[in-house]
Amino acid sequence: TRLVGAEADGEDRAAEAALRPKDLAEFVGQSTVREQLDLVLRAARARGATADHVLLSGAPGLGKTTLSMIIAAEMNAPIRITSGPAIQHAGDLAAILSSLTEGEVLFLDEIHRMSRPAEEMLYMAMEDYRVDVIVGKGPGATAIPLELPPFTLVGATTRAGLLPPPLRDRFGFTGHMEFYTPEELGHVIRRSAGLLEVEVTEDGAGEIAGRSRGTPRIANRLLRRVRDYAQVKADGVVTREAALRALEVYEVDERGLDRLDRAVLTALLKLFGGGPVGLSTLAVAVGEERETVEEVAEPFLVRQGLLARTPRGRVATPAAWQHLGLVPPPSPDR
Ligand code: ADP
Repeated sequence: TRLVGAEADGEDRAAEAALRPKDLAEFVGQSTVREQLDLVLRAARARGATADHVLLSGAPGLGKTTLSMIIAAEMNAPIRITSGPAIQHAGDLAAILSSLTEGEVLFLDEIHRMSRPAEEMLYMAMEDYRVDVIVGKGPGATAIPLELPPFTLVGATTRAGLLPPPLRDRFGFTGHMEFYTPEELGHVIRRSAGLLEVEVTEDGAGEIAGRSRGTPRIANRLLRRVRDYAQVKADGVVTREAALRALEVYEVDERGLDRLDRAVLTALLKLFGGGPVGLSTLAVAVGEERETVEEVAEPFLVRQGLLARTPRGRVATPAAWQHLGLVPPPSPDR
């Protein structure tokens, strides 16, 4: 696991429960989704109805699980949390659906990774609050219809486009989660520091925010590492100085690049003159698997405008040269 990875690791899971905002007002940023969701939930409450199914799309660590818990809290409903990969058979889904209580929120993370038969069962459950449970096999198999209480499905996916249209269409509301601005992350960090009873200065929070890749989960994780450093090496206060030193130790630079990201960029610039160079060649040069370079390092480099994927290969942008403090070689086509 990487310090700047967006997926939750074991320590995150233990630490995050205490840091989750409990209601919409406490949820930092995402003003568009927040406002839209506020209307959806208020209207449902006013009608005394169960809220419409909600689809949340966005990168890991942006607050989809948190929002689903907030939806349940705002609707005064219990919540059940599961994920697409955990539902291998339609029967797994039937078991969950048939045990829901009226108005319950079912959070289905990575909904795009559910099996096909489960997905088809979900269509009917979402639309008619009904499932057909198949009993037996072959010609003797019978479908037993089962009524479900009204419930709210909150589906989460990294990209709404990954979902088959019939599934996407069954959601009443889709919220697109954006990466957070450094100001918003500063707010997240100061809020978390308060809950962790850690003193943090304004510029200490700002320094961590700038390195957190637009992602609250990473911001909270870096805050914990800087707090450790501040406790061991200083007076426990998360200052800018402590953040700078700690994140130097952990090799997270001022834009949130880690050692792997910088190795890829450095090879691209120093060995291949900024490209274009093929992915396989670049991967060999940094001693990593192709997939690691392509799926772990590149997405953030592309998002940062440091690297471009072109038909002829990977190319560094002028910002990449600048970020690593290197001067691009003079060349006729540059
Ligand atoms: P996802 O489900 O999208 O992977 P989570 O909801 O698990 O993300 O959020 C990861 C962590 O980041 C949570 O522990 C939560 O404390 C924090 N977090 C996410 N979004 C926000 C936010 N808008 N305001 C404050 N903290 C947030």
